[in-house]
Amino acid sequence: MDYDAAIIGAGPAGYAAAIRLAQMSKKVVLIERDKIGGECLNYGCIPSKALIELANSINYLKEMPGITLDARVDMKKWQEWKWGMINRLTSGVETLCKSQGVTILKGSAEIMDRNRVKVGDTEVSAENLVIATGSSPVKLPSFEGVSYNREILDIQKIPESLIIVGGGYIGVELGTAFAKLGSKVTIVEMMENILPGVDRELVNPVERRMKALGIQVLTSTKVESVVKEKEIFHVTVSGNVSLEADHILVTVGRKPNTEGFGLEKLGLEMNGKFIKIDSRCETSVKGVYAIGDVSGEPMLAHRAYYQADIAAQNIAGHEAEIDYHAMPFVIYSDPEISYTGKKDSGVSVFPLAANGRALGMNSTTGTYRIYYDSDGTVTGAGIVAPHSSEMISEVTLSVESSLSVNDIALTIHPHPTVSEGLKEAAEGAFGKPLHFKTGR
Ligand code: NAD
Repeated sequence: MDYDAAIIGAGPAGYAAAIRLAQMSKKVVLIERDKIGGECLNYGCIPSKALIELANSINYLKEMPGITLDARVDMKKWQEWKWGMINRLTSGVETLCKSQGVTILKGSAEIMDRNRVKVGDTEVSAENLVIATGSSPVKLPSFEGVSYNREILDIQKIPESLIIVGGGYIGVELGTAFAKLGSKVTIVEMMENILPGVDRELVNPVERRMKALGIQVLTSTKVESVVKEKEIFHVTVSGNVSLEADHILVTVGRKPNTEGFGLEKLGLEMNGKFIKIDSRCETSVKGVYAIGDVSGEPMLAHRAYYQADIAAQNIAGHEAEIDYHAMPFVIYSDPEISYTGKKDSGVSVFPLAANGRALGMNSTTGTYRIYYDSDGTVTGAGIVAPHSSEMISEVTLSVESSLSVNDIALTIHPHPTVSEGLKEAAEGAFGKPLHFKTGR
């Protein structure tokens, strides 16, 4: 065989598996038809968070008392910067792969059998096959001319008005960002609430902020039709209500990429639309692994990185199994929602408004919720606060390490920081946060 492993797809799942295998002295070929870094680095996580950062920076000043701001954004210039930043990142990853000895093949892979893959005229053989082909947005083909994540993130001019179909992760994150950049934003969500599946206690503060930012949220509402006339979209939603906007973003979920590269030849067992894997990330065919979005939900880049480690360990002959009991989730809303682990019999809540650093940031809408079992062992948390994405790992580590609320409460947190609120929530488990009087 030419290689120990052939990996199809160079997103966070594929390139991470390639690097990990190379670090264990395995011979790897990484096949990519588009750009190294996949959807996340090129068209998803990284550019969307950059756009959110731009919007937050402007809005932060706009909302500061005493500031008069006439900020104008030249999106063309920003896009040039953005692509420069992304290219730096992805070429860095490519260089890293090569420097570790990974062979990169550019082109579309065609699986021939479980050991052979064709890329154009080149055929490679490998002991193991790793499918890391990612996912694509669910499209609504009858809505012509609408944008999906790639198009909206490449926009050259901020829309005056934007209708977003789908109030999930992307809808809330980008809806908030464009509202801050000056667009009139309407989110149409077919379920009863935006961010269905996320704890209401965490979503409520964010909904209040969205309202304050002027975002119109229509829940239990379906888009019936979209007609584009002279650059304006005319949209009819449930109840025959008419809306208009110069842009429409459709964010109604993603689907795994399982077609068009010969996957069917392997006869793998499926789990709905996803490839079925076991706790070692191996599929129903020995030596064939599937990692990242193609292997199931939640479709998150950090799950992909984690699975890449697990698959690489198993391919290299070291037993490793997935354990998601402390999986973090982050929604880059305003403020950010971050949660991890699970709820339990014990819960202690501390309000963001009692945190001095958050007050100084002019940000008071939010909450810290920490969950623990009858022994006081931390089982999870939900934090709605500025930069909660940077704080949630403290709880994830606590859950992973079976630490107690007392451990967090006794840990010296730097002052003044937003992270102190977590310590105070932990103290609240004993009824004694410093800056808040609880009912105990
Ligand atoms: P999503 O599943 O988060 O949300 C889709 C939303 O669209 C749901 O609320 C659903 O009820 C709604 N919907 C579906 N059909 C509809 C219709 N016809 N009309 C109105 N509403 C409809 O999907 P997404 O926002 O497209 O994001 C895609 C994936 O990307 C998600 O799986 C998410 O995990 C991932 N993502 C993660 C992050 C993050 O981790 N911060 C950010 C962005 C995206």
